[in-house]
Amino acid sequence: MEGLMAASAAEPIFVGHRVELQLLTTLKCNLKCTYCSLGVGDVLRSQKHATYTAEQLRAFVDEHLADREVYITLYGGEPALNTDFALELMARFPECRFNIQTNGTLLDRLPDALLARLSNFMISVDGGERVTDGFRGKGVYGKVLQNARAIRSRTAATLTARVTWWSAETTFEELDALTGTFDHVYFQFAQDEGAQTPAAVEQKKHVLAQLVDKFFSSEALYPVVPIMGTVRNKVVPSRINELCGGMTQCRVSTNLLNVMPDGKIFPCPDMLYLPELQQGDVKENWVRKSPLQPHPAMPCRDCAAYHYCRGNCMKNMYLAYVKGEAAWRQNVTEPTCELIRFMGEEVDRHDPKGWFARAPMPVRKRLADAEIYEFCEVMP
Ligand code: SF4
Ligand code: SF4
Repeated sequence: MEGLMAASAAEPIFVGHRVELQLLTTLKCNLKCTYCSLGVGDVLRSQKHATYTAEQLRAFVDEHLADREVYITLYGGEPALNTDFALELMARFPECRFNIQTNGTLLDRLPDALLARLSNFMISVDGGERVTDGFRGKGVYGKVLQNARAIRSRTAATLTARVTWWSAETTFEELDALTGTFDHVYFQFAQDEGAQTPAAVEQKKHVLAQLVDKFFSSEALYPVVPIMGTVRNKVVPSRINELCGGMTQCRVSTNLLNVMPDGKIFPCPDMLYLPELQQGDVKENWVRKSPLQPHPAMPCRDCAAYHYCRGNCMKNMYLAYVKGEAAWRQNVTEPTCELIRFMGEEVDRHDPKGWFARAPMPVRKRLADAEIYEFCEVMP
């Protein structure tokens, strides 16, 4: 726990009324994306399938989460490679909502019984066709979009494109086009020391400005989550407190548990390789407060973006300001913060409160209450 805020024994383990269990049901994957974060520390492919049972997870939930709404994200590796376990979980947790985070290439294999229980799909792409195929393999973009369209008639779930925004070449048109196939587009700035050069940051600002313009010039709600979320946080700020206790909106400090196939629990799926971050264990039936908490060394409280950002990605802040990794801070954290502040400034230029006051009721309701905010990080 070196360098982390110590939690007092009297503090509640979870904040808020809902807890998301993000279950890495397998670490196997049928793709070999060049940047997979599970490659750090050799986590990827180290644990093929879940070795705890649905019954053990039920006992864990009944003991520690009986007073919360629990919802489940099927995660991996590629969760479509372990559908038997997903169906067991759905039978054992009939009251829960389910979300799936998938690379989208195997959607045609998912059984109807599983599709019927899903609230949302998070389907990974990296922008347009050229960039996605460059990272994920030739033909992947086309296959994923084809699968997404084909699955529409088989499920009532919402479909969300989850874009890791690496390339400075990704255009507004490419991101905008995804809104034609998906109900939402969520983007997250790539956390890579080479992805956020000063030139790339300028390019991304150019695209962000176009996305914000489109948001405020659309009659229906423009469903690009980080823009929606920024506007929501500015016009209905109480929502941040309802869902994540006013802390980072990926919920890593408050109400998100990532369960590895061996049952060990960590707060952040990108840092499964740091034993000091272990937060619990399903088989041993224990859990503690997330060790990833705001720290005095983090600059967020004095940041102009704090009122809507709230610390964005705790992994980013932890590596930069608690672990003191200077290269990470300069090449990843600071450029990301610059982009977030820019996005907020662009939103402010469009008078978001005036826009909200004029918006039709369905748009206001969706902006404030969309379920998608529970399934992704909201901030990029
Ligand atoms: S922009 Fe960066 S410094 Fe500012 S609140 Fe967000 S994470 Fe913290
Ligand atoms: S946003 Fe950052 S801290 Fe939160 S889950 Fe993702 S990588 Fe971890």
